[in-house]
Amino acid sequence: MSKFLSDKFKSLSPYVPGEQPKGMQYIKLNTNESPFEPSQGVLEAVAKEANKLQLYSDPDLTELIKTLAEVYGVSTKNVIATNGSDEVLNFAFMAYTDRENGAAFANITYGFYSVFAKLHGCPYTEIPLKEDFSIDPEDYCGINKTIFIANPNAPTGLTITLEKIREILRTNPHNVVVIDEAYVDFGGESAVSLINEFDNLLVTGTFSKSRSLAGARLGFGFASEKIIEDLNTIRFSTNPYNVNRMTLAAGVASLKEDDYNKANCQKIIATRARVKKELENLGFFVLDSKANFLFAKKDGVRGKELYLGLKEKGVLVRHFDKEIIGDFLRITIGTDLQMDKFLECLKELL
Ligand code: PMP
Repeated sequence: MSKFLSDKFKSLSPYVPGEQPKGMQYIKLNTNESPFEPSQGVLEAVAKEANKLQLYSDPDLTELIKTLAEVYGVSTKNVIATNGSDEVLNFAFMAYTDRENGAAFANITYGFYSVFAKLHGCPYTEIPLKEDFSIDPEDYCGINKTIFIANPNAPTGLTITLEKIREILRTNPHNVVVIDEAYVDFGGESAVSLINEFDNLLVTGTFSKSRSLAGARLGFGFASEKIIEDLNTIRFSTNPYNVNRMTLAAGVASLKEDDYNKANCQKIIATRARVKKELENLGFFVLDSKANFLFAKKDGVRGKELYLGLKEKGVLVRHFDKEIIGDFLRITIGTDLQMDKFLECLKELL
């Protein structure tokens, strides 16, 4: 740390992303990426943009916003697009959490929420999950805080129903409620349909998982016109060209070929069911994930040791040091071939 760093950032511990190995070829089941390449149309659309890179991208993100609005059945005024959904989440923390009551989110959820809260110096409350690792929606009703809920939650993969989300929105009318739907396309139920009913709802999503575009960095948000206006004020005050030309083209092409993405999601869902069963046959306790990963542990086996053992065999999964989940592994669902290799290595280790 230099002597110049502002006091407000001195105690910041940054978010630690999953490993992106550079040397050895791993079977990568650690960062919830898609194992499938982007669709053909995406590859062509990206290539076509290359000779225009001397020009800035469209700051209004016009074509992408229009296509997102069409696909999700909302008005273009209800949509924002960002550099990954991390960016729209960051904007939401910036915009809505430095108020008296601060933010609230689960004690086991996406690790970036607490980092964003600290970055922006806003107080936050971590609400414990229930013993079965699910979120208790009652804990979020009438709490007068800006609420962040990943649905499905990460790293558990568990969901809450739209009915419960409605109740949380209804009982917190003076605060924004953010529903982070990064994994919704793998079996969750989207809250997008509620944005016209509740002016305090922000639904965020990403192209990183179900649309095979993690490396392009593209996210989006759906909300009331006023919330989108707030977020755009922040967007234009930080980086008006937040989505680059190639990514804009990739996003539009991907939405036009959404059947390809949907078919890939169905493959992941089928593989997830098979791997869950196989893990259970090996004596694992596996949560009922609706995401593109499984969260599992086996009594008597240390999570960290299993993670290291798998790594040595060339399979990368995610392990978290947090005590309550220290014996769990989060395993991204890859192709059937990748998962067979994972199961083979796991059996050898056990
Ligand atoms: N929300 C959740 C729950 C996530 O797990 C992730 C991925 N790490 C994100 C948001 C952000 O994804 P991206 O920035 O790639 O859209």
